[in-house]
Amino acid sequence: MRLRILLLFTLFYCKSMLFSQTTVSNPSKSDFSGTLSFLASDWLEGRGATQKGGFMASEYIASMMGLYQLVPFQKDTASGYFQDFKILEHSVKNVSLEIKKGKKIIALSPETDFKVTPIAQSIQKEAQIVFVGYGINLSKEGYDDYKNQDVKNKVVVVLKGFPGHLDSTSVTYQKFKKIFPEENDLEETKLQTAINKGAIALVILDSKGKFKPNNSKEDAVFHSLENASNTSIPVFKLTKTASEKLLSETTISLNNIEKKLAQKNAGTSTLFKNTKINFSLELQSQTFPVRNVLGMIPGKDTTKTVIIGAHYDHLGIKNDSIYNGADDNASGTSGMLALAKKWSESKVKPPFNLLFASWTAEELGLLGSEYFVQNFDFQKQKILLAINMDMISRNAPEDQTHRILSIGTPKENENLKEIATLSNSKLAKPFTLDLWETDGHSGSDYASFTAKGIPIMTFFSGFHDDYHTPRDKASKVDLDKVKDVLFIVNTSLLKFIENQHN
Ligand SMILES: [Zn+2]
Repeated sequence: MRLRILLLFTLFYCKSMLFSQTTVSNPSKSDFSGTLSFLASDWLEGRGATQKGGFMASEYIASMMGLYQLVPFQKDTASGYFQDFKILEHSVKNVSLEIKKGKKIIALSPETDFKVTPIAQSIQKEAQIVFVGYGINLSKEGYDDYKNQDVKNKVVVVLKGFPGHLDSTSVTYQKFKKIFPEENDLEETKLQTAINKGAIALVILDSKGKFKPNNSKEDAVFHSLENASNTSIPVFKLTKTASEKLLSETTISLNNIEKKLAQKNAGTSTLFKNTKINFSLELQSQTFPVRNVLGMIPGKDTTKTVIIGAHYDHLGIKNDSIYNGADDNASGTSGMLALAKKWSESKVKPPFNLLFASWTAEELGLLGSEYFVQNFDFQKQKILLAINMDMISRNAPEDQTHRILSIGTPKENENLKEIATLSNSKLAKPFTLDLWETDGHSGSDYASFTAKGIPIMTFFSGFHDDYHTPRDKASKVDLDKVKDVLFIVNTSLLKFIENQHN
């Protein structure tokens, strides 16, 4: 009897030990440094998703997956590790934008008065316009520019920035800067809000006169999945002069509206009864093949999967410069491969599938992960968790000690926050964690999963001045940091597995 108890005890003990750190060791520098340098080398030409470099990178990643004996995700087809699909690139062929005030028509000129962001299909419309302050809806913070305003089938006109953005000492600045530290994120949020509210176009006004359409660096192309039902709407950015033309004869003056709104600290909206906008957008589209690279370690229960993912594409070659994308995201990709190597070497059969994923076309709008999610058979399989690593090798300029790590999780997944904190505490020199909530954000591939309600953890080492420039090179990465990030990712993964079992 005693022996039996002892045996049982030993069995339980072993079971919990099975998934502790001793069984799957953490990657060391040599597990990822060479991969990182190679992916970020000039040989791979910046890994543009639709370019030669992107395809070379995909072949390399697949060959490493083969070396680590991962099972091809599509093992019954000739594609093996590759999930091939097509994307479309849309650019503007013709655009017109007219403001109609009663019988008066003011025609604005592209490249002089405004710039337009293309969408997936040509469009021609005339509609009433509604001014909705900064176009921000934060009900939880008690701020809503759309309050009591129906913008369905109307053109939404907003100011650039957020309340108080011109005065960094104001209370409103402090409040909104915390919520929207990144300007790109803010614009994306404004666009999504306008789409959700049923608007047919978004017009952004510049009150400072900074915006010049013809030297704006934004891409004049828009990418979408082939056959995707696309819900995006065009975004028109107006210069100060054009903004004034739009607001002429209305109750809003560009000169003092920003000051007013900074003091008001509440949303505002006005329907312009006598002003309409007429716009047309004619597009041309081109098709490109792209591919995700996917390899698995099958689990005991093959109906459940945990994804360890990182996008491998970057900006490729632009204007004869190679955008190497060492941090963004050779770092995450090499980290993913290093974890695949360690799990494969350990010979541990995980309780459920581990899918090592390298997404393409993240830089073109999260298209690789989006395609994956759209074509995943959720009837047959459940995704328990999607881990995302995007830019894990640098330090923000203000992070002098190089010990800040940002980990995003959805609001409702309190357990993942705990796992992250616990894993970090096991490091010899723990990071100062920036734990943030991904709700309402779409900065990387995790958003394709949160959109489906899948729990995620996303790892990011901090913004730097080399972001999306040709200076994001392998010589600048912090390999010690990558190693520690991978320690946390692996420890979190093991802990998550252990928790599922208990
Ligand atoms: Zn990027």
